[in-house]
Amino acid sequence: DAFTKKEVLEKAREMGVKFIRLQFTDIFGVLKNVAITVEQLEKALDGELMFDGSSIHGFTRIEESDMYLRPDPNTFVVFPWRPREGAVARLICDIYNPNGTPFEGCPRYALKKVLAEAKEMGYTMNVGPECEFFLFHVDKEGRPTTQTHDQAGYFDMTPVDMGENARRFMVLTLEEMGFEIEASHHEVAPGQHEIDFKYSDALDVADKIMTFKFVVRTIAQRHGLHATFMPKPIFGINGSGMHMNQSLFTLDGQNAFYDPDTPDQLSETAKYYIGGLIKHARAFAALTNSSVNSYKRLVPGYEAPCYVAWSLANRSSLIRIPAKRGMSTRVELRNPDPACNPYLAIAAALKAGLDGIKNKITPPAPTESNIYHMDAAQRAAEGIVSLPASLHEAVKELQANPVISSVLGDHILNRFVEGKMEEWDDFRTTVHEWEIKKYLTMY
Ligand code: ADP
Ligand code: GLU
Ligand code: MG
Ligand code: MG
Repeated sequence: DAFTKKEVLEKAREMGVKFIRLQFTDIFGVLKNVAITVEQLEKALDGELMFDGSSIHGFTRIEESDMYLRPDPNTFVVFPWRPREGAVARLICDIYNPNGTPFEGCPRYALKKVLAEAKEMGYTMNVGPECEFFLFHVDKEGRPTTQTHDQAGYFDMTPVDMGENARRFMVLTLEEMGFEIEASHHEVAPGQHEIDFKYSDALDVADKIMTFKFVVRTIAQRHGLHATFMPKPIFGINGSGMHMNQSLFTLDGQNAFYDPDTPDQLSETAKYYIGGLIKHARAFAALTNSSVNSYKRLVPGYEAPCYVAWSLANRSSLIRIPAKRGMSTRVELRNPDPACNPYLAIAAALKAGLDGIKNKITPPAPTESNIYHMDAAQRAAEGIVSLPASLHEAVKELQANPVISSVLGDHILNRFVEGKMEEWDDFRTTVHEWEIKKYLTMY
């Protein structure tokens, strides 16, 4: 189903496309784009369009600012919410240096490198993400708030309100753009929703996660709401996760995690993959949970993991193995949140799993009790460590782990660490509302 350049040009003509957004994701997971007119499309498809990389956060220095965009023809899709006449389409791009080599700072390239490594070992990777988000009201000036009048909870049917209407349009729009939506439902917290789409190949899914966030935010705005993928917008209620279901298929299309002849029907490969995830979890947290706010979600009591363990059913652990077997045999990694850069998060998780397979890392025994209820001594007895407690701790762990930092390459690693340490310092030195409440009258 790969589109050729010629097919993209034909499609664009057929669908009356006038504008094409050339999109890419920066190191910090923010979607960027430049719009061109259809007259420039052929040139763009030939990879001849240049942009100034020095103005993109974390990309290049001023003296090496010329970058080239190479659109991936497979990602051509028309925005259904824009006018039919003078329609708008988009293409997701890889970033190249002026000398024609891939740019080391391109997150999509980082993922492609780990996928190539997997392929050499005889595997393709499938990912099925579960993106959660909040829909909030905007105030009279149109500024986002953290208010919702929605009182519903998990799987509730609300009276037809703006939230439900907006979610319906999100699903319809995503379907028009080629997503296969498996389920959508109200999540546990008031104003919180989840829309699940069908798993596919890792690169396609990373692209889809970026598109998903953009579409959800766009449709929400058109319904007078603000959609946020911030991990923990409100203290005291559930935050938003992005569980990453993952499996490896062999090159002939069999699920490499499935083995009907073992007691739990998990293959040795699956076990080693889990072993790798467990071993490197503290190091890849900076990539799956990459904001200061991420670590306010990873606390006990809100269905988000805080300890490094795996289990066959329990939702308090980092890794859960859903009951389905056969082609659906998969590992659910529960710590990622939807504010992460999906290219880097997926690349890091895959690298961890592949390292487990290469080095035959046997995971500890699964933990079937609720880890939230275990005390420190019980956890220590089972050898269960904690996930990093802050962005600062997570970045230190990333730097100290050569396997996971190699996924990024020096360019992304250095810019990422620099940017995240700045973010941390800004947070650390800011005086927060909490401190005023606590200390202003006490001392
Ligand atoms: P949960 O059990 O947490 O409720 P969901 O049913 O909401 O999980 O989501 C399951 C996700 O797992 C979907 O995105 C689905 O497409 C995906 N999935 C199913 N089979 C596989 C597989 N073999 N590899 C990766 N993801 C898969
Ligand atoms: N919202 C929870 C989290 O922060 C997950 C809820 C669920 O299991 O779907 O991870
Ligand atoms: Mg959920
Ligand atoms: Mg889940």
